[in-house]
Amino acid sequence: MPVGGGPPSGPPPSGGAIDPESGLLPDLDDRIRAARILLVDDEPANVRFIEHILRRAGYAEVVGTSDSSEAVPLFHAHKPDLILLDLQMPGLDGFAIMERLRPEITADGFLPVLVLTGDTSAEAKQRALSRGAMDFLGKPFDAVELQLRIHNLLHTRLLHRALASQNQELEERVRERTSELHEALSRAEEASRAKTKFLSVMSHELRTPLTGIISHAELLGSEVCGPLTTLQHEGVTRISSAGWHLANLIQEILDFASGVGTTEKLRPESFDAAELASEALGIVASAAAERSLRLTLIPPPEAVSMFTDPTRVRRILLNLLSNAIKFTPRGEIRLRVLRTAAAVTFRVEDDGIGIAPEHLGRIWDPFWQVEDPLTRREGGAGLGLSVVRSQAQLLGAALGVESRLGAGSAFSVTFRAAQNA
Ligand code: ADP
Repeated sequence: MPVGGGPPSGPPPSGGAIDPESGLLPDLDDRIRAARILLVDDEPANVRFIEHILRRAGYAEVVGTSDSSEAVPLFHAHKPDLILLDLQMPGLDGFAIMERLRPEITADGFLPVLVLTGDTSAEAKQRALSRGAMDFLGKPFDAVELQLRIHNLLHTRLLHRALASQNQELEERVRERTSELHEALSRAEEASRAKTKFLSVMSHELRTPLTGIISHAELLGSEVCGPLTTLQHEGVTRISSAGWHLANLIQEILDFASGVGTTEKLRPESFDAAELASEALGIVASAAAERSLRLTLIPPPEAVSMFTDPTRVRRILLNLLSNAIKFTPRGEIRLRVLRTAAAVTFRVEDDGIGIAPEHLGRIWDPFWQVEDPLTRREGGAGLGLSVVRSQAQLLGAALGVESRLGAGSAFSVTFRAAQNA
């Protein structure tokens, strides 16, 4: 039967009297004294003596028993922070009690068992240690030493529980923050998808009437509907050139909106690299002529056959060439086709304004432009290079850029040997 103390009234909070939620410092000693202690010793006199020492030292929650069969039920009723356990007892001995309580002791993290024993042999110590004991005190023991050991073990338990609770709190915060970030990310992705869809729908809507405007302006310009005065001719030419400018811009937005991850399929086929380059130069020839820029194709010494989607390669080259034309006030634009054993590279070089080193990292971002879009002279939505990047990614091609402010730029796109036939 229990000697002295008795279990506290009402169901004890799980995991002992030490509050893992509270901080450590202000009343550490009070917390240690508030700890619950279970004492099991088959000698009633020992139980009374130890209880007396502990109560005098300020420990209020001490439950003792000299009947070892009560140890496990008392443990569950009392939820101690520390167990003082005799080893040699009739019936259930200290080893058996530790064995029965092993799951609880292990699950707790740090539940100290202080063994009080007359048998201080190495073998007894080893057995007790392997069953979860944390410390030993040989009988007969010194009261001060007993108090010190108890104090230290409880102190360590308190620190341990505070640490565990802080860890738990941190983990909780990390979990909350991660889930907030996931939500924010999916909201941002949703918004980005909505924006892209809007761009795509608007571009389609704009393209239809624009095609009508351009074709009618060209029809009038060709004078099949009747002769035009010089002024009228100039007017329709302007309508059609402004129309083409808008049409290009809309195409750029559509290309951007149908970037990587869309349903558009790759259509790989064999083609000659230099021929494709020459075709792209032909498309931008009039824009270059308008600015008196020379366009030069530097082909490889021998024909180079490639196997990839030529429409997308053409789109990349056209974007790079029209940038080169846009940002080169005078001089030459060169399109080189280079062949090495492992790759084919298209390189668009210009003698233009160049790009400052601090801007080179951002030029591929959508809508990003070196100059303020509201004040700059050149047109464009800032999407050309981002389209180049998404198309290159889709084709598995590598991009490169070298540039010197005031001296010109060179953009390259490289296809590995596997894409060349
Ligand atoms: P856009 O040409 O429509 O402005 P891009 O995405 O094609 O958009 O290019 C982004 C920016 O990179 C351009 O606004 C320009 O500032 C810079 N840039 C691109 N190509 C060149 C080039 N060849 N020479 C100088 N600057 C360039």
